[in-house]
Amino acid sequence: MADIIQLLPDHVANQIAAGEVVQRPASVVKELLENAIDAGATEIKLIVKDAGKTLIQVVDNGKGMSDTDARLCFERHATSKIKTAEDLFLLHTKGFRGEALASIAAIAHVELNTRQASDEVGTQIKIEGSKVVAQEVVVTPEGTSLLVKNLFFNIPARRNFLKSDAVELRHVIDEFQRVALAHPTIGFDFYHNGGELFRLPSSNNRQRIVHVFGGKTNEKLVPVEEPTEVVKIAGFVGKPEFAKKSRGEQFFFVNDRFIKSPYLHHAIMSAYEGLLKDGTQPSYYLFLDVDPATIDINIHPTKTEIKFDDEHTLYAILRSAVKHSLGQFNVAPILDFDS
Ligand code: ADP
Ligand code: MG
Repeated sequence: MADIIQLLPDHVANQIAAGEVVQRPASVVKELLENAIDAGATEIKLIVKDAGKTLIQVVDNGKGMSDTDARLCFERHATSKIKTAEDLFLLHTKGFRGEALASIAAIAHVELNTRQASDEVGTQIKIEGSKVVAQEVVVTPEGTSLLVKNLFFNIPARRNFLKSDAVELRHVIDEFQRVALAHPTIGFDFYHNGGELFRLPSSNNRQRIVHVFGGKTNEKLVPVEEPTEVVKIAGFVGKPEFAKKSRGEQFFFVNDRFIKSPYLHHAIMSAYEGLLKDGTQPSYYLFLDVDPATIDINIHPTKTEIKFDDEHTLYAILRSAVKHSLGQFNVAPILDFDS
């Protein structure tokens, strides 16, 4: 009889994990932006080439890393954000799984430059396919720059599976907008192929929405505000007359994290009942604040789905808050005389 079971080497395990965390350039953009936010950055620059297929770089002015941490951050399950499983119930950071950088480093060429405020010099590390190829002491600004080149260089099937630059850029812009909307007080700058796509100064929720989607958005917004014990709701919904045939701009943020929720979407649609022309959909930008202990965001590595303890109550509060706002702003129902 022979034993046949082996532990996978780290670089293989990382590559497998990467399949879940990194689907496309936009996934890398999301992870790097979230790390910059968790590091307390107030200014974040995103530089992308060829829709991220060639290069993605995120530069932040956050707290930086020590030279030891700079090496450790690429290890799997290496995180500064939680220490115990209980911490998951107190979570106030975007990250906690400690697998994004390990995954990215497994399937790309990565260069990290980082310095903490208390240090005179910083650390540079280059990694290719999980292998550290250089580590040096460098002069670098306070904060962190993470540069990711040649995504999926060692997984041709994945690389070939990527869509056109136009499609991939659309995904990158979507991720960027979600993060930027969730963090209006942070300044963002986004360059693609040398041209500036977005410059978003530090601001408030309303101004950030206007900066992201254009000046005309302002007049379309109806404020929503409902501070209950269970959930604090704030944000805006679009006036019904501006509803579109396409899905348009629909955003839920739970504790400053963009999430997808067909169930909560239904609550909004039901609040608009009788106000929309057939087949049109309203815009909404809604921020829900809940006790982290009442949600589970650890359902999927990308964390865009979450589980609420009490979905039904949330639904009811959201529906009534939106209904109330639409009513208060004297939004007249559409009178359809034909039917
Ligand atoms: P997670 O975010 O889940 O902790 P990551 O793999 O994304 O896992 O990052 C690993 C660790 O590296 C983080 O916990 C953090 O300590 C450090 N780190 C990553 N990016 C930055 C950054 N931009 N600035 C400072 N520290 C960072
Ligand atoms: Mg992270």
